[in-house]
Amino acid sequence: MIGIIADPIYTLFAKPDPDIIKVEPVAASEEDIMLNHKKSYISMVKRSYSSGHTTNLDSDTVCSERSYEVALLASGGLIKLTEMAIKGEIDSGFAFVRPPGHHATSTAAMGFCLFNNIAIAAKKAMASFGVKKVLIVDFDVHHGNGTQASFYDDDTVLYFSTHQYPFYPGTGALTEIGRKNGEGFTVNCPLSGGKEDGHYIAIYKYILPPIIKSFKPNLILVSAGFDSHAMDPIGGMRLSSSCFGAIGGIIRDTAKNIGAPIVYTLEGGYDINAQKDSVAHIIDIMKGHTPPDIAPTEWPGLDKFIKAHRDNWPL
Ligand SMILES: [Zn+2]
Repeated sequence: MIGIIADPIYTLFAKPDPDIIKVEPVAASEEDIMLNHKKSYISMVKRSYSSGHTTNLDSDTVCSERSYEVALLASGGLIKLTEMAIKGEIDSGFAFVRPPGHHATSTAAMGFCLFNNIAIAAKKAMASFGVKKVLIVDFDVHHGNGTQASFYDDDTVLYFSTHQYPFYPGTGALTEIGRKNGEGFTVNCPLSGGKEDGHYIAIYKYILPPIIKSFKPNLILVSAGFDSHAMDPIGGMRLSSSCFGAIGGIIRDTAKNIGAPIVYTLEGGYDINAQKDSVAHIIDIMKGHTPPDIAPTEWPGLDKFIKAHRDNWPL
């Protein structure tokens, strides 16, 4: 059984499907949000919302009169699916929520993100659902600076990201690997623009699986941003919709051996049709279909990543 929280990607789920249940989002409590955000920041978002008019929290993050309650539903929706997946009530889940979350830091809104849904869900899973180790995979075209910062000193949450670099928000260099206990538990694969399916598949085929097998997470959360699609007006990558299915397939097939459930949450994606098409490929993977067959491209950048991350992982 696959659980989903629905949003405008609704048309994919217009017909009843025995493999899919729609799960109504539940608002996260302020205590849940405080697992990852300072109380003063939460109060500031709440004040912007109760003022009744639109406030700019940063140059591209607007808070309208309903943003606070919707942001609580986004975080709460992902928490709900995570809990259901941990309890075995669903095999996997996809939270189609807005606003996205991976740029939000503990004290600031950034890049359309108010609360960091995936960081909150990871912390909630460890605080309340008995999870010891979480892997966060982030294939949004932008680096998830907020998520990385939340777990930079932490060896219980591994953050793995493929992203365009240099690009917004400026973080995600190969040398950013975590610090103190967290050293090695941040794995960045920064890519110059124009990369195609084969480049991504090489990274997801040769770098991620050995890390998953060695780290052995109890839960895998995915920041699913589709702005790395070729049709996306913001991102500069050239991925096809089926590439997302292939990436999902690699994660699914590697996770099978360690019994970790996988829950996706929506991040960016600004071509609505490309996003819908890409989501459809991931849903196919969640239903157990065979992943699209995309050949990996081996190029010097791949060797550079392998060499850099070999210090911490059996690559
Ligand atoms: Zn993005």
